[in-house]
Amino acid sequence: MERCHIFLKCGIMNPQKKEEEQTIYGARNSGAVLILRKEKGYTMSMETDSKKQFQKILEESNYIVFFSGAGVSTESNIPDFRSESGIYQTVKDYGYPPEVMLSHSFFLRHTKAFFAFYKDKMIYRDAKPNNAHYFAAEYEKRGKVKAVITQNIDGLHQMAGSQKVLELHGSVLRNYCMNCNRFYSLEEVLSQEKEIPVCETCGGIIKPDVVLYEESLDEQTLMESVMHLEKADTLIVGGTSLTVYPAAGLLRYFRGKNLVLINKSKTDYDNMADLVIRENIGQFLGQFLD
Ligand SMILES: [Zn+2]
Repeated sequence: MERCHIFLKCGIMNPQKKEEEQTIYGARNSGAVLILRKEKGYTMSMETDSKKQFQKILEESNYIVFFSGAGVSTESNIPDFRSESGIYQTVKDYGYPPEVMLSHSFFLRHTKAFFAFYKDKMIYRDAKPNNAHYFAAEYEKRGKVKAVITQNIDGLHQMAGSQKVLELHGSVLRNYCMNCNRFYSLEEVLSQEKEIPVCETCGGIIKPDVVLYEESLDEQTLMESVMHLEKADTLIVGGTSLTVYPAAGLLRYFRGKNLVLINKSKTDYDNMADLVIRENIGQFLGQFLD
């Protein structure tokens, strides 16, 4: 198992957009773009409807992995701190970009400033799951979705009812004393008046169970993610442009039949996908919840 660090740009990313291929294999249909995988020998049909196509994929799939990125959370009104506006706002308010403020070394050196930023920008207690989360939970109940792999740290997949959720970047809902390892809920951390939350037992600093920049991802979570990806017949990737590590790196473990990308903007993997949907993910997946 290779070690990897959060948010490092993955070596296999190709920043060059393959405009030509996308034009050749892309077909615009009712706001969505359908791109067919070249090597599968499909013929392009202008009548192909992305909704019908997706329905067919759902029906024929028995092992779906649902991979969710920040775009799934933004539809629950949780802003993406990695977006242009997110970075701009953080620098404006705190003087540092988010990848500095959310780094392990910043946490150790400027713990107070870290928690000020963290509580203000990373915690959204009133956020509710949207139809993308409910879709993943519902199709797990139906025996189709076997795992959710997420880059989000908000716990919304579990709130929607998903059982098997692999949180690559951890969760704000779990917090541990750095000294004695005592568990603290988010509520307990936030209820403390102190600028730096401390352990009631030993006085140690309570650290959120979130993977910071410069920290390694949890190996067990990565291994389980790879195992599910290798077994999956369908991979639905939603709300990520696949530029954040380890999303792109994990994708290569998928060898199944259907790769579906649902993202508002173009990704470097569009030309590899069997179905590309450029719609609001909650709205699109909500159509399959009846
Ligand atoms: Zn402690």
